[in-house]
Amino acid sequence: MVETASSGPSAGTPAVEVAADPDGERLDAVVNLCKRRGFVFQSAEIYGGFRSTYDYGPVGVLMLRNVKEAWWRSVVQMRPDVVGIDAAILSPPAVWEASGHLESFTDPLVECRVCGHRYREDQLEDPERCPNCGATGSFSEPRQFNLMFRTHAGPVVETGAEVYLRPETAQGMFVNFANVQRACRLRPPFGIAQIGKSFRNEITPGNFIFRTREFEQMELEFFVPPDEASRWYEYWCAERLGWYVDLGIPPHLLRLREHGPDERSHYSNATSDVEFRYPWGWGELEGVANRTDYDLRRHAEHSGQTLEYSDPASGERYVPHVIEPAAGATRALMAFLLAAYDSEEVRGETRTVLRLHHRLAPYQVAVLPLSRKEHLVARAREILGRLTPHWMVDFDVTQSIGRRYRRQDELGTPYCVTVDFETLQDEAVTVRDRDSMAQDRLAIADLVGYLHERLAR
Ligand code: ATP
Repeated sequence: MVETASSGPSAGTPAVEVAADPDGERLDAVVNLCKRRGFVFQSAEIYGGFRSTYDYGPVGVLMLRNVKEAWWRSVVQMRPDVVGIDAAILSPPAVWEASGHLESFTDPLVECRVCGHRYREDQLEDPERCPNCGATGSFSEPRQFNLMFRTHAGPVVETGAEVYLRPETAQGMFVNFANVQRACRLRPPFGIAQIGKSFRNEITPGNFIFRTREFEQMELEFFVPPDEASRWYEYWCAERLGWYVDLGIPPHLLRLREHGPDERSHYSNATSDVEFRYPWGWGELEGVANRTDYDLRRHAEHSGQTLEYSDPASGERYVPHVIEPAAGATRALMAFLLAAYDSEEVRGETRTVLRLHHRLAPYQVAVLPLSRKEHLVARAREILGRLTPHWMVDFDVTQSIGRRYRRQDELGTPYCVTVDFETLQDEAVTVRDRDSMAQDRLAIADLVGYLHERLAR
């Protein structure tokens, strides 16, 4: 993926790095929608933008929370065998020494001697030709570039005060393995899950929020008896693929791809990616790796602590093996948006609609008073108050009702509740379905029950 577009503030089109792609219209449309409606903004845009960092706006933050909540629900809440943690982002070099990241978390960097552009060698379509200036044979010898961000803790910049921003959340689970296992008296197979920010000094960030230097991960480390590792690896591959399908991504846009031996990370003996068909082609959405006992063994060696499971009944002791499904929350958000984006002709007009799963949509409901007349708006606000304890609800009094439906369609809001003048007489409202556009008239007293049935968690 090659950085191409320039940065800088612009009114309509956000400045993002987008590679040439066969289905660019969809990507452009989603990127535009993200800015126009408040999903994603380029960071520090008023200063020309800070490349490859993004801020999540009022509806983007709702959707991102929903993505994370859907993951947490499926991986932690619904499972008796998984617990969660929230570990620190700053960590000492010892952790990364033990994990192997200081030595091996590198990408091959090449520089064009003609224009000075830098690339990840393994991502170049043509390893001989510079995508920026077109020069051939101009690349330097590849150099292994470490992707970790390093800084200093405390007021004095001195050796020994170095810290790293974590490049993955996983190590938080490994270094807390013994604490968590003892505190919760867990017996393998069991998992520790975490959602949080990670940082990688990517050589070529780009394709909007697909690859950024600051991003959010949702990772599970699932600790199993060594002889059960292959079975659990297969299990988690299927489980994680199914999660995306359940949340509305059509199966033909998803696939599992097994890594070849030369592609795997330093800790893995089997890895499969859940891939999504992005507008520029198939790419990783999530990685499922069999990390063996690599991490626990390394941390045991480096810390001098025992990181084993000891069965109190049988006396058996072993270092558990680890199956890791590692997903990106921000990358998943992008895939959900790309898959959900649709536009169709309705009575001679184009309707843009995000067909998002109701659990992911920023708002589940919108309340729309038909006019701005004070008594109607007051009644609508009263109805809004009945719904907000249950769902995120938007409230919109501007423009014509048709326009407001379109605005909600663009945000993916599954249901609009229209409050009209008859409501004041008959205590009923109209509920409009985003996908079918069908309308139901029902009593206000039945509204919460009606929506609960359709927006079941
Ligand atoms: P890639 O090969 O694309 O660099 P990776 O294999 O290094 O990714 P993992 O270490 O497996 O990625 O990270 C797990 C998940 O975290 C990825 O599947 C992705 O969803 C997310 N992720 C990783 N790096 C980034 C990034 N720079 N920006 C956004 N999300 C990322």
